Amino acid sequence: MPRAKQTSANPKPPRKGRGTATPMMRQYMAMKRAHPDALLLFRMGDFYETFFDDAKVLARELDLVLTARDRKSDNPVPLAGIPHHALEGYLARLVRKGYRVAICDQVEDPKQARGLVKRAITRVVSPGTVVEESLLSAANNFLVTLASDREGEAFGLAALDLSTGEFLATQLEGGRARERLHSELGRLRPTEVVIPEGRAGELLERLVTRFDTTEVAALPSEDEPAEDGDEGVAGEPARQPAGGSTEGAIEAPLPRPNATGVPTISRQSERDFFIPEASRRLQEQFGVGSVEGLGFEINSRPLAVSAAGAALAYVLSMQDSELGHIERPRPYDLTDHMVLDSVTQRNLELVEGLRGGGRQQTLLGVLNRTVTAGGARLLRQWILAPLVDRQAIEERLEAVSHLLDELGLRGELRQSLSGIADLERVLSRIGHGSANGRDLVALATGLERVARLKGRFAELGDPKALPTLLASSVEALDEHPELVERLNSALEEDPPTTITEGHLIRRGYSKELDELKTMARSGKEWIAALERSERQRTGIKSLKVGYNRVFGYYLEVTKKWSRRVPEDYHRKQTLTNAERYVTPELKEKESALLNAEEKAKSLEHELFCQLRDDVARELESLQSTARALSLLDVLADLAQVAQDNDYCRPTIAKAGRIVIKEGRHPVVERVLAEKAGFVPNPCRMDDLAHQLLLITGPNMGGKSTFMRQVALTVLMAQMGSYVPAASAEVGLVDRIFTRVGASDDLAAGQSTFMVEMLELAHILANATPGSLVLLDEIGRGTATYDGLALAWAVAEHLHGLAGKGVKTLFATHYHALTDLSRFLPRVKNLQVTAKEEGDRLIFLHQVTPGSADRSFGIQVGRLAGLPPLVVERAQKVLERLETQERPPDTSELPAGKAPTQTVLFSETMAASNPVIEYRDHPALDSLQELDPLNMTPMEALEVLWKLKKQLR
Ligand code: ATP
Repeated sequence: MPRAKQTSANPKPPRKGRGTATPMMRQYMAMKRAHPDALLLFRMGDFYETFFDDAKVLARELDLVLTARDRKSDNPVPLAGIPHHALEGYLARLVRKGYRVAICDQVEDPKQARGLVKRAITRVVSPGTVVEESLLSAANNFLVTLASDREGEAFGLAALDLSTGEFLATQLEGGRARERLHSELGRLRPTEVVIPEGRAGELLERLVTRFDTTEVAALPSEDEPAEDGDEGVAGEPARQPAGGSTEGAIEAPLPRPNATGVPTISRQSERDFFIPEASRRLQEQFGVGSVEGLGFEINSRPLAVSAAGAALAYVLSMQDSELGHIERPRPYDLTDHMVLDSVTQRNLELVEGLRGGGRQQTLLGVLNRTVTAGGARLLRQWILAPLVDRQAIEERLEAVSHLLDELGLRGELRQSLSGIADLERVLSRIGHGSANGRDLVALATGLERVARLKGRFAELGDPKALPTLLASSVEALDEHPELVERLNSALEEDPPTTITEGHLIRRGYSKELDELKTMARSGKEWIAALERSERQRTGIKSLKVGYNRVFGYYLEVTKKWSRRVPEDYHRKQTLTNAERYVTPELKEKESALLNAEEKAKSLEHELFCQLRDDVARELESLQSTARALSLLDVLADLAQVAQDNDYCRPTIAKAGRIVIKEGRHPVVERVLAEKAGFVPNPCRMDDLAHQLLLITGPNMGGKSTFMRQVALTVLMAQMGSYVPAASAEVGLVDRIFTRVGASDDLAAGQSTFMVEMLELAHILANATPGSLVLLDEIGRGTATYDGLALAWAVAEHLHGLAGKGVKTLFATHYHALTDLSRFLPRVKNLQVTAKEEGDRLIFLHQVTPGSADRSFGIQVGRLAGLPPLVVERAQKVLERLETQERPPDTSELPAGKAPTQTVLFSETMAASNPVIEYRDHPALDSLQELDPLNMTPMEALEVLWKLKKQLR
């Protein structure tokens, strides 16, 4: 998929010149000029046609035949079209592929038109502004708008989901603003990003599509003062978003999880981003006197206001429908939740599988037993944004714990919720003015369930006795009894999807409508009776009453009986075998009947729209109810999963320790459930002696699984879930970084090793004291010594950072690295165990203290089915290498002096860099402070003893 979907901005008119183009082509060109960056579907008869480059794109993307208009002329115009009745299906495909589509309809009846049929753009659809259910996926569909300051150092971000009405805005500034912006985009996964037109948008576009981690690595870290004395935007209310500097051009892209995940880029006039303009729009939309009324401190978050206002402007420019369903924008800070960049999301397989294991084999797959669409969306949001506030986490855990204990309540809650339609989206369609009869019926049914639920909670007594989060959710539920009554009395039980063809409103709701319907029905009955009476009167047995759209009702007589046709019949149409007639009486009845039918339909439409508007007036409270239902669903879901999977409630500590007993990997244990079973393992990390865990052991031993299960346990605990362990104490983590496995971005021109180094640079530059870092086999993508040297240096560096709190899990096959624990006090060696039984290698999957000295790579190769000759040969070569002999006949192997890696590296390191970390060692400080001349031999001995202990 291209970076940003754009279609021909300048369709080339036929070369014969505009003057000679047909009037219809001129009409087309005018429309295209108004929407240069959209695919223009131009209605002609029964087809939506595209021309020029648009036709080529359409044909390519939808597998259609590309033909040409004026084929015989010198300049045939490329042409491709789709039948009008198939529009929605094709539209969904185009939008999913990231295209913006403008639909140009005939806005007058072609039969009535004099000359050229009038046409107009009736709809512009883009990936981030669709609300039609058929065009949406189950997850949130965020449209993100970005603003930046002149220097390109501070950013405003607004995220709007038109399909649910959610609206968020934030401002990012300071040394890591660009990197954070990128992470946030990775979390929100917008389908469309709106940026300012012109230069202002250039930097932003690059940030969205090609983000350079090396640049981030060079940015000052949080603790270092920014070189230019950047104080953020807070003190500079006058800072206007403007053309960001393009200096320090960004070239290399961040390794992306999925190139197809790049959103569509759209541009909006710079004017809409100006703060006064943006504020005015926000004030108007939400009926407040100032943006402060929305919770935005204009002085501290001017760019958030700019982005939010521009988002509204963009949406308004896309559709002229109501935007009443958009919630007031909620200001938020990125520090409100744990940061999980897209690489980490992918490596931990949070919502998408890494190895094609499908969605089921992800954390979301395991945790999602929600019963409503809104609940599933919210759970996904929780997974991608775990909390960092202890109290907020405890509130969630408390509610989950309550629902875990109250089995009956949980069951009823889940039962009442199941079958409720996607109310958030239904309400959005109501606010947007596109809801149909089925939506309103679904709302009424949903509200009836709400009433039942409220009743059940009321039986439990004082809601205040419930955990806070449950109590506030129950309080937010409003069953709207009058509204339900009205909807039930107004709407047919099973209305159609259209709202203009009747069958929507029940009898008894409107007297006028009932009368019209009676009139129409009696007309129909009269006509049905006519057949019988006319047969009798004329004696024509084959006489039939029929109807078609052109002639209306008629009496049909086969030619054989023409002689018997009475005089008051007027011939209307001749067929091969029959004649069709009308009578004045029939025409009179027909017009009364059709009139009544038409009138009834239009009155039904009117009544329905009125009803919908009345519902829309209650939107705010209905939306809170819908949000509360989603929340209840997620809480009950987490309780259910905790019970089914035997999870435990974690203890949340402020920061520092992570202590897990009998921890499991939530996804792997499920996959293994029916096989051998998962072997639980403990984990202890702290600031003192267990800050960098170095894990060695055989291939396939379970190193990656162990590291991931620790990260997932932390993440689950902080999202408010129970965790797969016998017990867990989780000190708050603000970021999880992962460098796991090979992920090359060949499409972006990155080699596997380069991607590894980019990700590593990114981690080392951005790890905060509260971060948890997972490194899996660093350095394996290059020559052994280079890789080992890099791994060694990285471990030392992280150990240095460890003094600030960062915790690292480091899996490696470089066994020499385990020597680090001799020099660095906070490194702990762990090993995953396996045992050899004869030729067989048995994986025990147990994580124990200590270090492995072999990787059993050859045995794993045998397990994988390498030819026996290759395995045997490898075994021999290994034996020779280990005894430092040159293998026989191996000119391709390293020179004869090849020693084992361990011996080689330890010795080399010790010789070339004997101090390694000793400069920073606390024993050195103690030594410095000694005054040997003033010590007794006993004191000296005691100090010596302490020093020795410090070296452990
Ligand atoms: P390599 O070094 O080759 O990358 P590894 O040590 O990282 O291997 P994993 O990928 O973590 O090994 O695990 C390999 C397989 O072993 C897993 O797919 C899983 O099926 C199984 N496994 C891992 N840990 C456990 C466990 N604790 N209990 C049972 N099975 C496990």
